[in-house]
Amino acid sequence: MTDTSADLVILGGGSGGYACAFRAAELGLSVILVEKDKLGGTCLHRGCIPTKALLHAAEVADSAREADQFGVKTAFEGIDIDGVNKYKDGIIAGLYKGLQGLAKAHKVTMVEGAGTLVDAKTVEVNGTRYTGKNLVLATGSYSKTLPGLELGGRVIASEQALNLDHIPNKVVVLGGGVIGVEFASVWRSFGAEVTVVEALPHLVPNEDEFISKRLERAFRKRGIKFKTGVKFTGATQTDSGVSVSLENGETHDADLLLVAVGRGPNTAGHGFEAAGVQMERGFVPTDERLRTNLPGVYAVGDIVPGLQLAHRGFQQGIFIAEDIAGLNPQPIDESGIPRVTYCHPEVASVGLSEAAAKEQYGSVETFTYDLAGNGKSQILKTQGAVKLVRATDGPVVGLHLVGDRVGELIGEAQLIYNWEALPEDVAPLVHAHPSQTEALGEAHLALAGKPLHVHG
Ligand SMILES: Cc1cc2nc3c(=O)[nH]c(=O)nc-3n(C[C@H](O)[C@H](O)[C@H](O)COP(=O)(O)OP(=O)(O)OC[C@H]3O[C@@H](n4cnc5c(N)ncnc54)[C@H](O)[C@@H]3O)c2cc1C
Repeated sequence: MTDTSADLVILGGGSGGYACAFRAAELGLSVILVEKDKLGGTCLHRGCIPTKALLHAAEVADSAREADQFGVKTAFEGIDIDGVNKYKDGIIAGLYKGLQGLAKAHKVTMVEGAGTLVDAKTVEVNGTRYTGKNLVLATGSYSKTLPGLELGGRVIASEQALNLDHIPNKVVVLGGGVIGVEFASVWRSFGAEVTVVEALPHLVPNEDEFISKRLERAFRKRGIKFKTGVKFTGATQTDSGVSVSLENGETHDADLLLVAVGRGPNTAGHGFEAAGVQMERGFVPTDERLRTNLPGVYAVGDIVPGLQLAHRGFQQGIFIAEDIAGLNPQPIDESGIPRVTYCHPEVASVGLSEAAAKEQYGSVETFTYDLAGNGKSQILKTQGAVKLVRATDGPVVGLHLVGDRVGELIGEAQLIYNWEALPEDVAPLVHAHPSQTEALGEAHLALAGKPLHVHG
């Protein structure tokens, strides 16, 4: 017989929901976790993990194709998409199994089915009511489209793009944000002709403009086409293709149109409004302690306005569990959440862009270290840069990176930002040679007034 009451009832078993469940269980709370599909949610089954597996396969393809420049003889014969999908699905299956084991080990009561919020203490699933002293809403997000653009056939969203049984010859990607540029990168490496359409002036428009421009330069070199600052006006499908029109009068014909224009909160049809949860454009606003307007009801992850990232969901889930358990955790600084776009080359950042820092601090200093001066980056044959922003005479408030593998540098970058380090604090720390972390070290040395491998 399944328990029907607990300290905590969580609606949705994605990154935010399951992290909250596991931490609460560790703290001795009883937890019921309601999930209508698969534990792990978007990130594991339709998001972070499968996209990164595709991106790794893409990197292997590029390495095979370009091995000559390292003096290695290979013959690139092509992509076996069934093999790629098998590799990707194998990773997901392994992690899914591990996650199910963790839920069991934490003694979380799993309830399968779609839950509806009844009131601030009750969720109903298939006619059974589950009550909690506290509730957490963690229902995640869905792929949005534009008005008048229906998904279906050759017009696809990321869910379909992850499971194609073929490689398109020609693709148009609508949206130059994280998801759009990651798929553009994969398909280009797999041999497709790719055009990205972005209404804002730059690709990855949420990043510091310098980084966007460097990514655009790299994409241009890779033969990834992009149209920025231009709006999409319509798409028509035929049996053989899709024709995409832009407001500048251009049309682009392709096999597929990937719609990557952002993710909407999955909050409709779960009883939220009827139960009295305050909503804003479909999102569930919270205070800095992630409390909704209903006492004892929290919200976590993609339904809470802000960055839609798995590790934000993890951290918010942990925060809620600790808050309920009375540990009084520190509220999360949204700017301190690291952001990585795993295209080739990668983009990574934490903290404020130069423009946002100027707005906040009035006066800032910046330093940009080009990876041309970094030995390891030369060995890898990657180009890129590290840009630092500091409040004048104050801490480093923004770190922005572009180049292959720079996503791995964000661990150090986020410590620098979140510990409010001065460049002078970082300068004496030794970075292993030759490594790409040296680029971070060199940039801080320069900003602290003692540049080492820096020209003029
Ligand atoms: C293509 C793609 C790539 C991404 N790549 C990255 C990345 O590299 N790094 C990163 O940090 N983030 C990435 N993300 C974002 C990341 O996946 C999300 O931020 C994260 O999954 C949000 O977690 P969540 O818990 O809010 O929601 P979700 O993971 O969406 O989980 C919500 C869960 O709730 C369940 N549910 C919904 N309604 C109900 C109901 N009524 N009853 C019961 N269950 C319900 C759903 O089935 C789902 O399992 C990516 C997303 C996409 C789409």
